[in-house]
Amino acid sequence: MARVEKTALVCGAGGFIGSHLVRRLKREGYWVRGVDLKYPEFSETEADDFLVGDLRSQQTCQMIVDHRFDEVYQLAADMGGAGYIFTGEHDADVMHNSATINLNMLDVCRKRNCKQIFYSSSACIYPAYNQEDASNPKCSEDSAYPAAPDSEYGWEKLFSERLYMSFARNYKMATRVARYHNIFGPEGTWQGGKEKAPAAVCRKIAMAKSGDTIEIWGDGEQTRSFLYVDQCVEGTTRLLRSSFGEPVNIGSEEMVTINSLVAMVADIAGKTIHVEHIPGPLGVRGRNSDNRLIGKALDWAPSSRLRDGLEVTYAWIESQVAATAR
Ligand code: NAD
Repeated sequence: MARVEKTALVCGAGGFIGSHLVRRLKREGYWVRGVDLKYPEFSETEADDFLVGDLRSQQTCQMIVDHRFDEVYQLAADMGGAGYIFTGEHDADVMHNSATINLNMLDVCRKRNCKQIFYSSSACIYPAYNQEDASNPKCSEDSAYPAAPDSEYGWEKLFSERLYMSFARNYKMATRVARYHNIFGPEGTWQGGKEKAPAAVCRKIAMAKSGDTIEIWGDGEQTRSFLYVDQCVEGTTRLLRSSFGEPVNIGSEEMVTINSLVAMVADIAGKTIHVEHIPGPLGVRGRNSDNRLIGKALDWAPSSRLRDGLEVTYAWIESQVAATAR
């Protein structure tokens, strides 16, 4: 008898994490449908079927969820780095666009009896009041309430987390919610205003000569942790296939200041780089993943070293910079 392939739907498959996830699911032998407003920017999609469509449209969602997918990954969102989500200029779009996508997708998945749905929430849901101390931020899953995210992006994520949990409770769906913490890697946005700190730092250093000065927002003593995309994808598939139904962090516990991130990238590049600190959108003072719960829930936690991921990412961004200069 012919083997029946498992099917997966990846929403946001033209984006950074979504395109890596499609590649991973194909390697595992899934038949994959990807959906996005756009094709992946940096490589051909490996999806068996890729639909360019707007998930804010109910009709589009009905069309793409045309059978009971074994796995649905909902990663589509209107998002970007600090320069996009902390300026306030995009708040209405961020909230309206992302909430509409989640409302539509849950509704059609329920109607098609797709039970296994993954949702990518964010560390941005954690209360700002627990992240004022750069060296000791609190991001354990149970610290999410009383809620006080530092951006409307975080509030939408929190609303949508609760939406997914409600569908699980009332319609017996197996929704899985991860709170991603700063994912980075090759094929992520590296210019244009939506890029995150690791990509922005790699780009600035790739474009600089040894001895040059680059600009960094704030005093650079704000802390973050950054997770390499392969580990994010690993955690994502493991979580979806687990029986764990509560929101859980997927991030790295290797917390660094932005100044030390710059120093690490400069060292990888083999360049002497000076820093000028300028005012800019910053977000919380400190943030780090807390991996105790994921360790218990999945018997697995991300383990890659920041420097290893940065080496690969710097090399990729350097090649992009060189190609653009040609
Ligand atoms: P990304 O911006 O590269 O990917 C999101 C994709 O969603 C984009 O390709 C975009 O075109 C698509 N999209 C947006 N609106 C759409 C619409 N109306 N219809 C169809 N597609 C639409 O972002 P990413 O870094 O790959 O993030 C994926 C998910 O993970 C997002 O939900 C994001 O909020 C979440 N997340 C990411 C990080 C991170 O560090 N990258 C951290 C926390 C949470």
